[in-house]
Amino acid sequence: MAEAVAAIQAPCPWHRDTLNQLLSRREAGRLPHALLFSGPAGIGKERLALALLQVLLCESPRGGIACGRCHGCHMTTGGTHPDMCLTEPAEAGKAIRIDQIRELVEFASRTPQYGGHRVALVRPAQAMNRNAQNALLKTLEEPGSNTLLILVCDQVSALLPTVRSRCQQQLLTPPPLSVSEPWVAGQLAVPERAAPLLAAAGGAPLRAVALEQADWFAERAALVQALARLASGQASAVVIARQFAGYDTLALLEACYGWTRQALRLSQGATHVTDPELANAMQHLARVSPIVLLQFAQALSRARRLFVSGANPNKELLLEQLLLVLTGAGPRNALSA
Ligand SMILES: [Zn+2]
Repeated sequence: MAEAVAAIQAPCPWHRDTLNQLLSRREAGRLPHALLFSGPAGIGKERLALALLQVLLCESPRGGIACGRCHGCHMTTGGTHPDMCLTEPAEAGKAIRIDQIRELVEFASRTPQYGGHRVALVRPAQAMNRNAQNALLKTLEEPGSNTLLILVCDQVSALLPTVRSRCQQQLLTPPPLSVSEPWVAGQLAVPERAAPLLAAAGGAPLRAVALEQADWFAERAALVQALARLASGQASAVVIARQFAGYDTLALLEACYGWTRQALRLSQGATHVTDPELANAMQHLARVSPIVLLQFAQALSRARRLFVSGANPNKELLLEQLLLVLTGAGPRNALSA
C-alpha cells in the first residue's frame, strides 16, 4: 500500500538536528526497529518521518536529505517503491482498518527488494483501534531484517501500553517562539498575524499556518465579541456554542484561554494587547469579574486536557458548558475536574 508522497520532504528547520541525530544513530547501527514520533499536531512530525523514510530509501542522499533524482527517490515520490509502506486512514478523521495493518505486517515480513532498508509509516497512529494495534504488536517487536517502523502520533494516550513499550519514543515539542514566529511569518501574506495565530495554535507552527488558511484569523474577532456579549448578558451560551461548534475545537480552546488570560491582565491594569485588531473587544472582556475570568480560564484548561487526551466529547455541549462559566454560572456546572 505504498501511496504517493508527492515530493521530496525536508524536515522543518527545527527538526533538522533530530533527523541528523537519527541518521547518525543509523550509521552506528543503533537505530531501533520501531520509532514513535509523538507530540502535538502541527509541529512537523510527519514531515520529519517522511524525510527519514525518503533518505533511507534514497541511493545518494546529500546532507541528510534525499536527492530527489535517483531511482529510489522517483519510486518513493511516485508511491511505487516496493520497500516503503504508508498506512493511513482512507479519509481524514477515519480509523485505520485492521486489513490495512495486516498488509503492513505482511510487508514487514518480506526482505528488502533493493537491498537497503524497508520503511513503514503509520500516520496518525492513534487512528488504529484496539484490534488494529494488537495486530501490529508482533511486527513491532520483530519486523523483518533492515525494516524500520515509524509511528506518528498526536495522542500517545490513545495507544496501548504494549504498543508504546515496543517503540522507542521520540517526543517532539513545539519549537520556541524565537524560531516559530519568523518561520510562520515567512509563510503568511500578513506577517504580523504570526504571533496571534501561533497563540491560537498552541505554538504549533504548521497548525498556525493551517488556521490562517481556514480563515480562522478572520473569524476570531467575531468570537471575542461573542464572549464579551455573553459576559455582559447580551447573548446566550446555547446560541454561541451552536455558532462556533464547527470550529477547530483545540484552536478555539487555546485562543479563548489566551484571550481570557489577557483580559485578566488588562483588568489588573496591563495595557498591552497581543492582537491589536482585538483591542476593543478585549477591553469589553476585561470588564468581567476577575474571579469569573479565572474560573473560565481554568475550565478551558481542563477542557483542553480532556480534548488532547483523546476523549471525543460532543463539541457543542462542551462549548455550552464552558461558556456558562463565563456568564458567572460557576465552575460547578462546567467540567469540574
Ligand atoms: Zn535519491
